[in-house]
Amino acid sequence: MAKTRRGIIGVDIGGTNIKTALVTGQKIIRRARTSTRAERGLKDSLSQIIKVVEPLCKDAKAIGIGIAGIIDSEKGTVKYSPNLKGWKNVPLGRILRAEFNLPVYVLNDVNAICLGEWKYGAGRRKKNVFLFTMGTGVGGGAICEGKLLFGAHGFAGEFGHTTIKLDGPKCTCGHSGHVERYAGAKYIVARARRKMAKRKSSLAKYDVLTPEKIACAAKSGDTVAREVFAEVGFYIGVGVANVIALFDPDIIIIAGGIAQAGRILFEPVRRTVSSMALGAEHRRHKIAPAQLGDDAGILGAALYAKLTIKGLTV
Ligand SMILES: [Zn+2]
Repeated sequence: MAKTRRGIIGVDIGGTNIKTALVTGQKIIRRARTSTRAERGLKDSLSQIIKVVEPLCKDAKAIGIGIAGIIDSEKGTVKYSPNLKGWKNVPLGRILRAEFNLPVYVLNDVNAICLGEWKYGAGRRKKNVFLFTMGTGVGGGAICEGKLLFGAHGFAGEFGHTTIKLDGPKCTCGHSGHVERYAGAKYIVARARRKMAKRKSSLAKYDVLTPEKIACAAKSGDTVAREVFAEVGFYIGVGVANVIALFDPDIIIIAGGIAQAGRILFEPVRRTVSSMALGAEHRRHKIAPAQLGDDAGILGAALYAKLTIKGLTV
């Protein structure tokens, strides 16, 4: 007799690693991971995905995939992925469906994180959630009235590319004064370096500087590092005040390693939001760090598959 298929496979495809797990709800049954081999092009990274997902398939009834880039979730097509060489208009859903004979659903990686945190993490039991990720880039996603917001073209929630300073410096996308230009990892580091060129700082001992190291130094009282976070927090706060005016979320969740920096980051964000957000005195906004860490993307991708397949109970 055929064994009952127990779970759903969640896959998180990043520029460096592919992380996957067989899950039921929030429970991870079995994990697997491998390198993406992004630099070797489409064929190689596709075969890496197949190789790492395949062993989990016999116990799975569907696959949900979160991947960075512009995704047509209805068709399961990756239109473009910035971290993966040669990925242009790739019908990932169709390819994997043919390979594994399972339903496959594809969505943007930050939307997957947003779904995961909403259902199982910092956004539990909330109807309106806005989440943004701080890493190399700054991504965003929104749950509105209990539903993931895709937008007309699948681009909704791109917090990193909202303008907070009209005459600001140029962003990686080519436009000026975007949130990412202030809160993206390399820009946080560049801000610290500019200050370090003029003043003494405990950060000088590092050859390679990261936002996490700057946060540590800030916590230990380094004034340069503190200033960096006060400024970055201010710019994020301006962006968050805009989000609040638009979406009126119950909670704003900050994801990504640096979100664990605590008060150093959250205080200036909260201060700016209370001074700038429309009707701040009438609203009770929570701005909080994400709770699921690396698992948010896997759990959210699996949840997306679960929510999309009608009539499937997990
Ligand atoms: Zn931009």
